[in-house]
Amino acid sequence: MIFFGPSGLSAGTLFRRILAASALLASMTFLGGCETSPATGESFFTGGLTKDKEASLGAQEHKKILQQFGGAYADPEISQYVTSLGNLLAKTSETPDQKFTFTVLDSPVVNAFALPGGYVYITRGLMALADDEAELAGVMAHEIGHVTARHASQRYGRATATSILAAGVGILLGSQEAASAAGQVGALALQSYSRDQEFQADLLGVRYLSRAGFEPEGMADFLTKLQADSRLNATIAGNPEAADSFDIMQTHPRTTDRIKRAIDQAGEKRVKDPVVGRQVYLSKIDGLLYGDDPKQGIIQGRKFLHPELRLAFEVPKGFRLVNTANAVGAQHKDGSVIIFDRASKKANGNLQAALTEVTGKVRLENVERITINGMESLTGQARVNRKQGPRDVRLIAMGYDQNTVYRFLFSTPAKATGQQAEGLRRTTYSFRKLSAGEAGKIKPKRIRLHKVRAGDTAAKLAGRFPYEDYQLERFQALNGLGAKQKLKSGQTVKIITQ
Ligand SMILES: [Zn+2]
Repeated sequence: MIFFGPSGLSAGTLFRRILAASALLASMTFLGGCETSPATGESFFTGGLTKDKEASLGAQEHKKILQQFGGAYADPEISQYVTSLGNLLAKTSETPDQKFTFTVLDSPVVNAFALPGGYVYITRGLMALADDEAELAGVMAHEIGHVTARHASQRYGRATATSILAAGVGILLGSQEAASAAGQVGALALQSYSRDQEFQADLLGVRYLSRAGFEPEGMADFLTKLQADSRLNATIAGNPEAADSFDIMQTHPRTTDRIKRAIDQAGEKRVKDPVVGRQVYLSKIDGLLYGDDPKQGIIQGRKFLHPELRLAFEVPKGFRLVNTANAVGAQHKDGSVIIFDRASKKANGNLQAALTEVTGKVRLENVERITINGMESLTGQARVNRKQGPRDVRLIAMGYDQNTVYRFLFSTPAKATGQQAEGLRRTTYSFRKLSAGEAGKIKPKRIRLHKVRAGDTAAKLAGRFPYEDYQLERFQALNGLGAKQKLKSGQTVKIITQ
């Protein structure tokens, strides 16, 4: 939670969406024409997105993406490195004069995506997972392929208002409510591509990689690593079947087989001594921030702690926390949703105003004053009838200090309300202030390099990871190591320190 501005997820937007799920959908239509992609030679329906419009739409969405993903990662050396690597690849494309803007996002999520107008994004989470320059180049060449093939414009043309809204933001709690609440921010970038588009981006990516002197096989290897990481994250979140809904596996649905086929079909001459660039790459990411940035608040299992805003709370078992620019969300697979946010300055510390800001004209029932860990609070509830069935909404406004009110919004399908009530009540009373001492102990995690010595084992190195669970699995996923793979003396591996 970093409070960049009024956009994105908040209790208010979620509440209004629960009330009027489809009001926005009717008003959007697209007019379009046809254009030809210089990279693929195919013509496609553009949804009215000319090249100029692409550039301005990209610029506009670029700001939203920065807000939603914690801004650009503030390390000039890293951004310079990624930009020069990106430009090297883009220069080999069919449109070498097109302007590209490469951004490393300050986000722990593993993702990469592109916007119309040549905006290409790599998260620091993805950079941490890569082990060499060829792997990063593979991801970037693929994204550049989406841009030169103008896939975003094609999706824009085909997208209905519903799918754009539903695509949501970097939050994607998985529920329709939350996704719609998120609005359109970054939707174009985060919508998943079709299999055909993925194949085409791989074909083009292989072309750019080969021309720039890289080994394209790295693309398939890195995908295996991405899949393993995605699976581990889903397991840690307590839901191994459902992979993360907003990581790279979702925005770019691919399989290693298809990438290998793309490499064969691209018909590019194999590079003789392809660039791998392991040492140079690892030295670049030595010290890279890993996991949550404490400045934005951190998630520890079911706990959310914000050392700068000095607050903490815990969600019930079965809920998965997601931190976004404007709010913290959590979702349960029964459809229950929790949103935590801050009332606007306009509410001016007033509890009633903080509730009305969310509900508008809807009246809350059973409004009562409560005290949460010494903080004066106000709570009330409402039942809202939806097409999918009735939902119960509970709102709590908590007076943190004279000028600051935080809020919980709990939205449960009526049939789940009874079951969730006690857990959500505990969440309410878990909200508390963090002491300076507690806040000071929350330090950022970083990637460090470690040269394997005689006697080092994966278990031993992983044992020092600053996590309470899955230490070995995290070590293996981070380094792309198989479960039984032994470390070699002298080999450089990545470790996580705090
Ligand atoms: Zn893709």
